[in-house]
Amino acid sequence: MEIQFLGAAREVTGSCHMVRCGDRRLLIDCGLIQGAPADEARNRAPFPFTAGDIDAVVLTHAHLDHSGRLPLLVKAGFRGPVYTHRATRDLCHIMLKDAAFLNEKDAEHENRRRQREGKRPVEPRYTHSDAEKAMRQFQVFDYHIERQILPGIRVTLQDAGHILGSAIVELWLEENGRRRKLAFSGDLGHAGAPILRNPEAVREADLVVLESTYGDREHRAWKDTLAELGEVFREARRGDGNILIPAFAIGRTQELIYFLKNHGREWGIDQWTIFLDSPMAIEATEVYARHWKLFDTETTRRRKKDGDTFTMPNLHFSRTPAQSMAINRVRAGAIIIAGSGMCTGGRIRHHFKHNLWREQCHVIFAGFQARGTLGRQLVDGAKTVRLWDETIRVAAKIHTVGGLSAHAGQSGLLNWYRNFNRHPAVALVHGEPEPMDALARRLRALRASVLTPEATQRIDLLSLPRAR
Ligand SMILES: [Zn+2]
Repeated sequence: MEIQFLGAAREVTGSCHMVRCGDRRLLIDCGLIQGAPADEARNRAPFPFTAGDIDAVVLTHAHLDHSGRLPLLVKAGFRGPVYTHRATRDLCHIMLKDAAFLNEKDAEHENRRRQREGKRPVEPRYTHSDAEKAMRQFQVFDYHIERQILPGIRVTLQDAGHILGSAIVELWLEENGRRRKLAFSGDLGHAGAPILRNPEAVREADLVVLESTYGDREHRAWKDTLAELGEVFREARRGDGNILIPAFAIGRTQELIYFLKNHGREWGIDQWTIFLDSPMAIEATEVYARHWKLFDTETTRRRKKDGDTFTMPNLHFSRTPAQSMAINRVRAGAIIIAGSGMCTGGRIRHHFKHNLWREQCHVIFAGFQARGTLGRQLVDGAKTVRLWDETIRVAAKIHTVGGLSAHAGQSGLLNWYRNFNRHPAVALVHGEPEPMDALARRLRALRASVLTPEATQRIDLLSLPRAR
């Protein structure tokens, strides 16, 4: 009986852990490695196991760094079920389809270049039909229901509060009468975030596999973040331009709509016309709306009182390219929410072209901007940017609003661990070495024995002391 860390080991993306129990093999997550081109290239390497030998996958949530290699796994011969929450299935359908579309487009672009160079064409990483095939292997769960998924292996999903459908995975293993229990945090949500519930407590485990993305940091208080956001809208109201918000399709977009709706009068939002200009974000918002039973108490209360969480009389969904292009004619009074979140692609770049050079306009960044992205250049104060071989002057006011994170900060992670009885051992994953080591120190102070496994490292679960 063992666990092997195959991804997100001392790094943030590419989550994948293999659990062996008897002659069964189970993967927890099968995520894409994201980041610089050299990191992305690692996705093309074959899996360090035979895909056909895997009996099942349990998927914590829909983000691509947890789910994005599933079509590759299926392509490599995996035929078993993918167990996950039903909302995760619905979001994965959007995410994997979109990822496949981008893969196909990238390969097409690359092949045009290769053809001119007289080189052989490359295959897309995976196609739409690979993604569809993977989706057919999904089997859905609700939270809190214990199910035997393989001989000697039972599983329950708890709400992780990170994005819709995100799950903490409890796993009970039995081999020749010997038992161990594992708890995987998945990505843990940021307590107090709107719409979703806070991460649920788990009491018992022999080993906790814990994410550590923000293991060395605290987020700003929610009320400070909201005050800052409100200030930007109030300031913009005095001007004569538009507000652009680059947003991630899943999670952040729905939070922004929630805030705009619920602070409408206070922030003067009713004076603006809001466009959600991203087909993917629109689809994700519809999935959120459909799964309203997963909302927290406050959102449920408001939904009863004010109607649908994501509808407002002045909010318009722009689905088609024509609808998107029509927004270009709006000179003032529009709040435009468009992807991609880091401005590396998507419709936001078109809106930049029409608004960035105008000093009456505002751009609000409400999410992390990775090095090397257009979003990061703007946040760092670039005076000009390049868009489609054109130099655009940056005259719009750039605002960065921190605190809207979908991850728990350091105290959130520690508080979640404190729910466990008898100080179980912890394996830290999903973090850069620095935050991971900072979190390890804090956990050791709570009497936990802490491991920070390297990629491919194994832990013999039977050698762990039982925490119960
Ligand atoms: Zn995530």
